[in-house]
Amino acid sequence: MILQRVSIVELRIRASTGVYCIIGYPIAHSLSPVIHNHAFRLYGIDAVYVAFEVRPEMLEVAVNGIRALGIKGLTVTIPHKERIVAYLDYIDDVAKSIGAVNTVKNEDGRLLGYNTDVWGFLEPLKPYTSKLKGGSVLLIGAGGAARAIVYALKSLGVTRVYIANRTADRGLLMEKYALSLGLDAKYIGFDEIYMNELSRSVDLIVNATPLGMHGVGGRVPIGSDYINKDAIVYDIVYNPLETPLLMEAKKAGAITIPGIEMLVFQAILAFEIWTGIRPEPKPLRDVVIKALKHQGQVNENYIRKKD
Ligand code: NAP
Repeated sequence: MILQRVSIVELRIRASTGVYCIIGYPIAHSLSPVIHNHAFRLYGIDAVYVAFEVRPEMLEVAVNGIRALGIKGLTVTIPHKERIVAYLDYIDDVAKSIGAVNTVKNEDGRLLGYNTDVWGFLEPLKPYTSKLKGGSVLLIGAGGAARAIVYALKSLGVTRVYIANRTADRGLLMEKYALSLGLDAKYIGFDEIYMNELSRSVDLIVNATPLGMHGVGGRVPIGSDYINKDAIVYDIVYNPLETPLLMEAKKAGAITIPGIEMLVFQAILAFEIWTGIRPEPKPLRDVVIKALKHQGQVNENYIRKKD
């Protein structure tokens, strides 16, 4: 109780305080408020970041509300990333190609849309760019995040992408998108045997489905015996910190990248778009780990990545 009172006093919300937000549906479990409020405090910016649960049918009204209230910037998450494009004044080229916006800046009433998922996905792969140039990837999932990842893979210079997805229509659409970018892409269905077979030979395996996520359950059907020890395994699910797929990859001796990395880096670029400041990743990663620990989603033996 006392702690709660102290933190309210520390927030020091005044009439001049800038307001930023996230919109999504549902939104209660988002960690974005934890990240951005921490960054505002760290960099001494007079701003707060709140979460709004916006039903799909209320999206246009909500965007008008953002204009009317002068909300300075927002993060956009499921299910609004694609549909919000129609209500904005400008979309940058990356977001245009992907057809989805996850970050909006309100510049004197003009709403500018960006997609920071691409950079967020790429930054943790920076140490491995030479390994991935000309390489092959098994991408599991064909939703909004997978589309940003396909764009990112093209910019990395990857040659071949195998797309595994439960629903054929979406998988084939993703194949078409990847081909349009000039990637050698192939939709492979969602066959466990085929996925495991491919895992032996690809340079990077990416999970872009919610499989393994707290509250969703299930697991990506790839076992440690099939993962090449020289491969990189990247799971964009960040809750729990170490997913079943990452555990299998560790067992195989492969390089692992947890979803918290993409989460933190996409937020870093959003923060930079809004404020001109690029925050350091470590304090933001630490605050997310603290929040996940609070939810019991951090394995005891989780070893933190050094900055
Ligand atoms: P989305 O557009 O709804 O797409 C979901 C994808 O997962 C689809 O390919 C869907 O396949 C597949 N999928 C869902 N449930 C499945 C199941 N039970 N079995 C097999 N496949 C299943 O969602 P999204 O925006 O791409 O997000 C995907 C995941 O990435 C979410 O868990 C999200 O939290 C995470 N994410 C993380 C970050 C980060 O910063 N770390 C950023 C964005 C997203 P169908 O086509 O067959 O339905």
